[in-house]
Amino acid sequence: MNRTDILDNDSLARVAADTRQHMLDNDGELVFWGEKIVTAAPVVIASAAKQSHESTDEIATAPPKARDLAKTTSTPVTLISTGSKAAALASLHAEEIGDCHRCPLGDTRIKLVFGVGNPEARVMFVGEGPGFDEDRLGEPFVGKAGQLLDKIMAAIGLSRTNAYIANVVKCHPMKDPASPDARGNDRPPSPEDMDTCLPFLKKQISIIRPEIIVTLGSTSTRALLGPIGGITALRGRIFSLSLGDGTEVPVLPTFHPAALLRDPELKKPVWEDMKMLRDRLKISA
Ligand code: URA
Repeated sequence: MNRTDILDNDSLARVAADTRQHMLDNDGELVFWGEKIVTAAPVVIASAAKQSHESTDEIATAPPKARDLAKTTSTPVTLISTGSKAAALASLHAEEIGDCHRCPLGDTRIKLVFGVGNPEARVMFVGEGPGFDEDRLGEPFVGKAGQLLDKIMAAIGLSRTNAYIANVVKCHPMKDPASPDARGNDRPPSPEDMDTCLPFLKKQISIIRPEIIVTLGSTSTRALLGPIGGITALRGRIFSLSLGDGTEVPVLPTFHPAALLRDPELKKPVWEDMKMLRDRLKISA
């Protein structure tokens, strides 16, 4: 079985089975962060035509900001749909980004982590950059923070089959690149790392054209919205990102799942933000 099979079939099946089992264990309800909620039905994937980004009073404005190792290969993302968005993402990944060494992160990564999920997704989650596990598997959010993200998404009917997950930078930023096998060696991407890689995230967003983007933590929020404030002040509010072609995409910042692992008190505000997302997407519970 190859790596792609593991990621796109086994791991998705595992998440779905875990969620189903959790629901059965809880009599059809998912006990989520101490609050009992009815688990949402899976989200129906919007057709490509459904791209109206309603502007509401909620929308606040933000300035639209906008080792050459033989082992350095990237795992191709298996795209779930076969439409033009899938083809455009595949081309961005394979042809435009390719075996990228535009910044020093390209020289120390194991796998380039492009993104995962449904090219027709109505919602995109954006993190900061791959960590130790993601670097090895070539898929975003597969470590402990990623497992929590899967649970958060599942609680409102989202998964890697109907949402899309990407990062600001595609390669693992390390504090000490000379110790690539050390855990706890992750660091946030530097402004230089982000300047090089952000255009690729923006292209992913322009291809997918989600109805809403959820930025996870301060790094991705700042990367997409600019230096408009700290995550504690910005979370739970809707901002607007201009794609530069007249399209505005709402952006909902929330805390990064890794922050929740460090401080469980943050689960409640994140759950508030996810309920806002669920209501906005009209996911029926
Ligand atoms: N944290 C991130 O921001 N992205 C990942 O892919 C994993 C952890």
